[in-house]
Amino acid sequence: MGRVYNFSAGPAVLPEEVLREAAEEMLDYRGTGMSVMEMSHRSKAYDAIIKEAEQDIRDLMGIPDNYRVLFLQGGASQQFAMIPMNLMKRKKAGYIVTGQWAKKAYQEAQIYGEAVKLASSEDKTFSYIPDCSDLDIPEDLDYVYICENNTIYGTKYKELPNTKGHTLVADVSSCFLSEPVDVSRYGVIYGGVQKNVGPAGVVIVIIREDLITEDTLPGTPTMLKYKTHADADSLYNTPPCYGIYICGKVFQWLKKQGGLEAMKKHNEEKAKILYDFFDSSRMFKGTVEKKDRSLMNVPFVTGDKELDAKFVAEAEKAGFVNLKGHRTVGGMRASIYNAMPKEGVEKLVAFMKEFEEKNSQN
Ligand SMILES: *Cc1c(COP(=O)(O)O)cnc(C)c1O
Repeated sequence: MGRVYNFSAGPAVLPEEVLREAAEEMLDYRGTGMSVMEMSHRSKAYDAIIKEAEQDIRDLMGIPDNYRVLFLQGGASQQFAMIPMNLMKRKKAGYIVTGQWAKKAYQEAQIYGEAVKLASSEDKTFSYIPDCSDLDIPEDLDYVYICENNTIYGTKYKELPNTKGHTLVADVSSCFLSEPVDVSRYGVIYGGVQKNVGPAGVVIVIIREDLITEDTLPGTPTMLKYKTHADADSLYNTPPCYGIYICGKVFQWLKKQGGLEAMKKHNEEKAKILYDFFDSSRMFKGTVEKKDRSLMNVPFVTGDKELDAKFVAEAEKAGFVNLKGHRTVGGMRASIYNAMPKEGVEKLVAFMKEFEEKNSQN
């Protein structure tokens, strides 16, 4: 059995090198005589794993010293609640709604305080990023929230919103480590790792120190306070040990690839192959505004539902899997995260060209 080209939106493709290394260490992690799965999270060996993982992500992203890196559980979705519970001091926050994940976060925040919708692109099925350079932002907001890359719709902020001095909170689940970021522009950057970094079960929260306080909303569970995890260096309770270990390997792999500058270049090249093809194809079309196109998630359609289904089925047989679009959108979506080789995208486009030739009327 060979490996397929996996275009899944998440859980998604991981670097083959990482998987092989993990397989080699499965039964005996570096002379410990046990798997990382079997190891105490308080052991010396594990302490080295989590510390190295943190240092590596700090190096990769250039995370300033006044930011903490937390390895948590509960997925990105749990952050939809944790963020307001910990940051809504004045019980008012602004949300820019650019897709389903941003909308879910916005709805969750309404449980805890006043969530103000600052802008939205729902009028055109989230196919663009609204102009956020001069939004009407109330003075008394605790933070401004965005979903930086919209996994389902395939849009990405090319410029961060002008928050007019308010703390920016960003869900970067599907663009995590895909390109360099200036961490200092954010109060909180977080993401579930199963899109671009590692196995499901870990969410990484990068948070500015002054935002970590005892002063959370009344009733906030101990486990949902950033302070609990920050004070204990992500070891308050048993963390998702094995997942963090794999993330650490991916960080190492990214460093070997040349870091985030190199990843950005690689990702731009891959995305361009697909987008250039859409711009020339008579059958396949991208579904989002060109200026807002994501480098990670690329949705497209033929304009004919039956033809879409035929394409997805034939692609799967040819070894290009998980190309079906999100159930709420239809059509197709190719997620081309860091670990998707350029060759995978080239071959997919060659396959699409062939499909187009075979299925064109004239
Ligand atoms: C997948 C995804 C989520 C939800 O992640 P879970 O870990 O399943 O909760 C949230 N935000 C974005 C941008 C995503 O892509």
